[in-house]
This record gives sequence, C-alpha cells and structure tokens, in this order.
Amino acid sequence: MAEVTEQQILDTLKTVTDPDRQADIVSLDMVSGLVIKDGNIGFAIEVDPDRGPALEPLRKAAEQAVQALDGVLSVTAVLTAHRETPAPAAGPAPRQSAVDSEPQRPAAGPAAQAAKRLVPGVRAIVAVASGKGGVGKSTTAVNLALSLAANGLKVGVLDSDIYGPSMPRMLGIRGKPDVLDNKKLKPMENYGVKCMSMGFLVEEDTPMIWRGPMVMSAIEQMLRDVDWGELDILIADMPPGTGDAQLTMAQRVPLTGAVIVSTPQDIALLDARKGLNMFRKVDVPVLGIIENMSYFNCPHCGGRSEIFSHGGAKKVAEELGMEFLGEIPLDMAIRETSDSGQPIAVSRPDSEHAEAYRKIAARVWEKVSKELDEPARQAPRIVIQ
Ligand code: ADP
Repeated sequence: MAEVTEQQILDTLKTVTDPDRQADIVSLDMVSGLVIKDGNIGFAIEVDPDRGPALEPLRKAAEQAVQALDGVLSVTAVLTAHRETPAPAAGPAPRQSAVDSEPQRPAAGPAAQAAKRLVPGVRAIVAVASGKGGVGKSTTAVNLALSLAANGLKVGVLDSDIYGPSMPRMLGIRGKPDVLDNKKLKPMENYGVKCMSMGFLVEEDTPMIWRGPMVMSAIEQMLRDVDWGELDILIADMPPGTGDAQLTMAQRVPLTGAVIVSTPQDIALLDARKGLNMFRKVDVPVLGIIENMSYFNCPHCGGRSEIFSHGGAKKVAEELGMEFLGEIPLDMAIRETSDSGQPIAVSRPDSEHAEAYRKIAARVWEKVSKELDEPARQAPRIVIQ
C-alpha cells in the first residue's frame, strides 16, 4: 500500500475546525511537526496554553480524521502550548558563573506543583542528563534503571530524549503501547521496568523537528496520559544538552533530583558544569555525577588504559561540591549489550560493570530517599547473583 502523503494529511486536517476561531486548523497554521513513518503519523497542534484543556475534542477530532485515511496505522496528535518565552523579570540580574550562559528562568513553582499531580503514583522522578550528546547518557540511564529494579524498587523509564529516543532499542522493546479503558496508554515493559518513549511512535532514525514548546507538551503527555501505576522511581532520560527545551523540562517536570553523566574529556566536563548550573537554577538537587567511558578496558590484552585523562569528573565534582557517584569504563561489552537490547545490568549481572551500576543505583536511591524526606523504606540491597 502506498504511504500516505503529507498533502493528504494536511487536506484532511483542513476539515477540522477550531471552534473558537471558526477556521480550519491548517489555514490557522496550527499544525506542525508532521511526521510520517510506515503509516504511523504524528503531529502537533499549537494552541494558546489557556485554551489547552478545552481543546481535547479538537485534538481527538484531528486524530480521528487522519486515522480514517487509507494506509494509516496509528495517529498521535499532541497539543502544544504556544507561548512566547517570557521576558525576564525586572530587577538586578541574578549572578551567573563564567560557564553559565543559559537564559534565566524563575525557579520551579506552581507549574511544578501542577505537574506533580500529573503522576500521582510516582514517588520520585530523577533526570539523567548530559551537557552534550554521545557521552553515554542513555546507556547510563537504562543500566541505572535496571539496577534500581535489581535493588528491589519499582522502576519506570521516561524516554524524554525525544530528539533521539533510544530506550525502545536499549530495553529491547518493540511494538506500540495499548490504550487502556481509562484512555491512558499502558507503558511498555521489559526486564521488569516500565517504559514510555516517542520511539514507540516513530522509528529511532527518523529525523524529527521539535520546537521548544512541542518538546514539553510531548513530555507532559508521556507523564500525564500514561498509566504509570505505582512507581518508586521514574528515570527520565533527558534530551542531551542544556538548551531551552532541557531547561523548561527541568523547570516544569517535578524532578526529585538529577544525575549528570559525563566523559572525562575536559570539553565534556565544561558541558557537565552547564548541566549542574541548569539544575541549580531551577532548584533541582543534583544528586551527583557519573563518569562514563572513564577508562578503556582492552578486549584483547585485558589491560586498562586511561585515554581521556581519567578522573576529570571526580576532580570537577569536588570543585563544584557535587557528589562523584562512580565511574564506568569504556568497554565493548557495555556497548554491545545496550545496543542489542540486553543492557549489561540484566544480561551479565555478575560482571564488575553491573556491580558498579548497582552501587551507583544504591547511592542514588539513598539520596532520593533523603530528598523525599522519608527513611529509605526499601533500602536497596546490593544483590550479587
Ligand atoms: P547519549 O545518550 O549520551 O547520546 P548513548 O547512551 O546513546 O549516548 O551512547 C552512545 C554510544 O556509546 C552507544 O553506542 C553506546 O552503546 C556507547 N556507550 C555508552 N557508554 C559506553 C561505555 N561505557 N562503554 C562502551 N560503549 C558505550
């Protein structure tokens, strides 16, 4: 069957009228971010944030209209709040450090409180962030999540790295989430960990163009419209970097804390500082830093070489008053297992790397429990199988 075309979709969406503005949503320029992949369609409808809740029927109507087209398997429309970046508040500018060049935003306030209600059964949300892409943030996030589960916790993974969603692949999950009777999506699951990702809608290598407000809307929907159930901890794999989308997410999602992943290279460490500053700005506690690709384990001779001046993250963590949570070497086994959907934390639980991840996970949970102001009810056990 021929792939449905962008034009067909837009023509169909012209039949959907914005009730308040008495014109169709295409002519009103409200449709953006159209993605077509093997019959799976995604797009955003940009609306004024104040009208958001009232426009759910419009969103549904748009989805249904496109769903009716031949060759369409699934449709996901998200409402995005189209809001200009607020002007900075009057008054003296807050002090900025040399590496801290991101725009200033108010600390998490009522918006975070509102977001908290979006995920009532989830006790803690912890972001895994990096200053730039390619440092192993997703690999670390998935192994951390699986290690938290191995330590006896109920764990979910929110793949908010919507620019490059890799959790479906790393967790070895295929297919699409079911819609439950309560109209929420049932998270996908593998290895005892629940997961939601934009990657379930579009293929990992499909280029997607996301504008700042769309990112947040998609992430909010993955929090609010997914039946996460009762979770001790939801690990949010953040989009890499410290730009506006990341800052907004750090501000609007009720994060209990954040973990920063960095490689030892100086440049990456500079980026890691940006990450730290970003979270501090929005009052999200940084639980610590993990040095990934810390040293190299040679698969041939078994020797260890420190190709990127190992130890940089520890030094910087000390300088910045951040906890150094641990180091993970550059090892083929870590790459092969996570890229093939069997992360080392579950596929080789008795390896030294799996143990290193479990130790980091135990420490992260200890710190999260403190942030939650509760005793570590389910004190993590280090299980060596
Ligand atoms: P990011 O999320 O920061 O963009 P990924 O987690 O996707 O990075 O990792 C990028 C690549 O590096 C992947 O192929 C991954 O398997 C590999 N990788 C990550 N950490 C390690 C490690 N410690 N040892 C070997 N390969 C790694």
